[in-house]
Amino acid sequence: MTTLHNRRPKRSEPVLLLFHKLGVLDLARKITPNLLTVLNYHRIDDPFREGFDTFRPNVSSTSAGFATQMDHVSRKYNVISGTELVAFIKGRHQLPAHAAIITFDDGYYDNYANAYPILKARNLPAIIFLATDFIGSCKPFFWDLISYCFFHTKTEQAQLPLLGAQSWADGTARQVVMQRLIEALKKISDMEKQKVIDQLPQILGVGVPDKAFKNLMMSWSDAKELSENGIELGAHTASHPILTRISPDAVSEELLQSKQRIEAEIGKPVLSFAYPNGQSSDLNHEVVDRVHRAGFHSAFTLLPGPTRRSTVIKNHLTIRRIFLSYTDSLPRFAAKLAGLERISGR
Ligand SMILES: [Zn+2]
Repeated sequence: MTTLHNRRPKRSEPVLLLFHKLGVLDLARKITPNLLTVLNYHRIDDPFREGFDTFRPNVSSTSAGFATQMDHVSRKYNVISGTELVAFIKGRHQLPAHAAIITFDDGYYDNYANAYPILKARNLPAIIFLATDFIGSCKPFFWDLISYCFFHTKTEQAQLPLLGAQSWADGTARQVVMQRLIEALKKISDMEKQKVIDQLPQILGVGVPDKAFKNLMMSWSDAKELSENGIELGAHTASHPILTRISPDAVSEELLQSKQRIEAEIGKPVLSFAYPNGQSSDLNHEVVDRVHRAGFHSAFTLLPGPTRRSTVIKNHLTIRRIFLSYTDSLPRFAAKLAGLERISGR
């Protein structure tokens, strides 16, 4: 998952649309053929469909939007696999001009159901990073459980742990309170966090059925099928902790557990890793060293890209990515990929 980052004001939609129409975005892309552009998705779903009751900010695109984006990527970029990237890092392989990599974090079932057919139809490789404790399980990530409770609550006010008395008059205000609670939970220990999460259904008067999160995450057989059809699997830890908040030995344990589990399930080596949350405070030298020692050849943050190829080789365990959201229009998507937003104000 990712956070809603505090960002400086973005370029306005009309300006981006004008840039798009005038070909400015394409020009920005054309004059920088030696960048590596790594796209980052989480979920491919309609966040406003009937019955969508989990964490909306984790939706990167609808299926239709994703298909349009993949058409754009197929036309403008040369999509490479994670294996090709590792060969490049090791000096055994040249990258094509305008190289791009498509990645997904967490391992949601919609990656298999919605994204995979679109990728397959265009013959595009991708990497999906799995948080292995959640694969094939009905156990939700804490942000999905919290979203579920806020979605189904009938109350309009509550005394919330960490935030105190809160009220919300409409769905938008309720989402804001929910997001603040999720951000506050990321700053406390796992034990305290679990205590808050356990109390929340009762505080908000919501019953959570055992099967509430069935099919939210992909199964191991889905994962195996993906890995046999051009989609590489990478590790994203076992339990999705923020790695700077646990001991170095626990970091190694999380890394090895997720790597070994995937390798045992699919019978192929796992080369790549993605840091949970991926912001600068979510990794440090010790964590990166542990990633190296666990045997990963490439690792990805959520600091904004694209990145020069020479920097990718030097910093192959902290490769930048471009975080995508269902709120991105096609001009904004094109601008993000061309690096315009990184240069102009993010
Ligand atoms: Zn994640």
